[in-house]
Amino acid sequence: MNTTPSPSASVSASAPYNFLFSSCPASRALSLTATATLFPSHSSPPSSVSLTTSFSFLQNPNFITGNSLFHSMQRFCSGSSMSRNKAMVESLQRYGVIRSNKVAEVMESIDRALFVPNGAGAYIDSPMSIGYNATISAPHMHAMCLQLLEKNLQPGMHALDIGSGTGYLTACFGMMVRPEGRAVGVEHIPELVSSSIENIQKSAAAQLLKDGSLSVHAADGRKGWPEFAPYDAIHVGAAAPEIPQALIDQLKPGGRMVIPVGNMFQDLKVVDKKSDGSISVHTETSVRYVPLTSREAQLRGY
Ligand code: SAH
Repeated sequence: MNTTPSPSASVSASAPYNFLFSSCPASRALSLTATATLFPSHSSPPSSVSLTTSFSFLQNPNFITGNSLFHSMQRFCSGSSMSRNKAMVESLQRYGVIRSNKVAEVMESIDRALFVPNGAGAYIDSPMSIGYNATISAPHMHAMCLQLLEKNLQPGMHALDIGSGTGYLTACFGMMVRPEGRAVGVEHIPELVSSSIENIQKSAAAQLLKDGSLSVHAADGRKGWPEFAPYDAIHVGAAAPEIPQALIDQLKPGGRMVIPVGNMFQDLKVVDKKSDGSISVHTETSVRYVPLTSREAQLRGY
């Protein structure tokens, strides 16, 4: 059975939106994929599902009505789990979010359904609630962050995933930096740490947990994880009011951090540490993530 969306469906879906995000293929893909997220398989209202995805759907008149891309994405719901995961990756490649073979291979190897509660809606390009006022980020955000960090996720390198939630991206980082590398997840909800470890144990990254090159820790991620610093790559999966100094300090010269910054309005920032230790920061795109905050504030709903 052919589970791949037809190119004509993709083209017809993309045509109306090019004018909104014509300068950047990734941004265009964000707007496209966001329009595909009508969330038929769970009940979160649009205001809560917008967490950890782009704002772009707010400008999209078809957000409520859907479009042909949505129907093509629905086709991922047939076939075996791994083939549907592959179809999701192929779609992200087609829209230019994934541009490297390595990122595609790693996302193909880690079945997203293992990280989504009950596996439901795993391949729909949408953030989903994972409890505790947290979400698993949408596939396009995971792909974009892997792509932005790719050069700093080479075999043997050290990667830190702050706000590791389900463990999906930590597992991908582990697969990118193996062999000899190290992937570290830090998450402040102990229950999510336990479930993320169970998720990873079921995945292709299980061996990395066993051999100790991948670990997940229950702690306040704003302090980083000094034990395995300095890091070539740091990803922060929750929005910080400002970039935590501890994370800058734990970034290796030549290292890169990707972090959403802001409160109501947030930008995905890319922080590069040069060999002399100086920092350059640029904005990649507008985003909306859950806050990087205290456990208490998160559990009482911010
Ligand atoms: N990237 C993950 C989760 C994203 S949601 C995934 O896609 O599965 C953001 C996560 O950050 C949540 O799990 C939340 O509990 C966590 N978080 C928020 N503030 C934190 C902090 N100070 N320290 C560690 N984790 C934090």
